[in-house]
Amino acid sequence: MAPRRPLLPVTDRTRHRRLREQGSLERADLEAILDAGFVCHLGVVVEGRPLVVPTVYGRDGRQLYLHGSVASRSLAGGAPVCVTVTHVDGLVLARSVFEHGVNYRSAVVHGEARKVTDPDEKLAGLRVLTEHAAPGQWSYARGPNRRELAATTVLALSLEEASVKIRTGPPDDGDGPDAAAGRWAGVLPLTAVWGTPVPDPLLPPDTAVPGHVARREGTRPGSRTGGGIP
Ligand SMILES: Cc1cc2nc3c(=O)[nH]c(=O)nc-3n(C[C@H](O)[C@H](O)[C@H](O)COP(=O)(O)OP(=O)(O)OC[C@H]3O[C@@H](n4cnc5c(N)ncnc54)[C@H](O)[C@@H]3O)c2cc1C
Repeated sequence: MAPRRPLLPVTDRTRHRRLREQGSLERADLEAILDAGFVCHLGVVVEGRPLVVPTVYGRDGRQLYLHGSVASRSLAGGAPVCVTVTHVDGLVLARSVFEHGVNYRSAVVHGEARKVTDPDEKLAGLRVLTEHAAPGQWSYARGPNRRELAATTVLALSLEEASVKIRTGPPDDGDGPDAAAGRWAGVLPLTAVWGTPVPDPLLPPDTAVPGHVARREGTRPGSRTGGGIP
């Protein structure tokens, strides 16, 4: 018997109600979506009002780390949060405006963000955040000093309650009455790729681009290899 794949538990909050056919319960899909990005939208309620802010994250197993200024109201911790990660893969141009859509992969994580107070975990969380976005950079750049650590809040969020939606493929109206009109329909793909590193103009001109940065040119965010889109 094939080993069972880990699935996401369905809760009242994560149960898809609309566009259910786009939902996935595969934990591997959740992890792939999170690993393919490094910017999320963090939703919190601040003084009774919703606030959604874009911010960087890093994944370590079944945990996300978020960070920012100790002054940030969205990083208070100990409160319910919702984190969303979205990748747009293309525009779905249908025959009718109604059937237009987006090909995408998205994840929504619900939970209570925990403020990381243990100094070792705080440093480890910052390492995860840095390495998630820029593999190899943690040991290349100077690490945070005591003052910088004190100015930084790190939050941890469990990936236990999360949902995934994925849309792929052509428009849905290829076999409907609008197909007879002969209009073009299809998908306009969109791909994010790292460009050529641009040196800081203040660098001495002979400063080499480190290999872990140079190797990413032409690759997609989240790919851990170099040299071309995997
Ligand atoms: C780039 C992009 C563009 C979109 N554009 C539109 C649009 O224009 N109009 C539209 O109606 N919908 C759009 N969607 C789909 C949209 O995100 C919702 O899935 C959909 O509208 C259903 O919303 P709802 O409030 O009824 O969700 P519900 O089904 O009530 O949500 C229940 C639970 O399902 C989960 N969930 C819902 N949506 C998502 C998601 N996208 N990814 C992961 N988990 C999810 C959450 O955990 C949520 O708490 C778009 C999605 C993406 C990624």
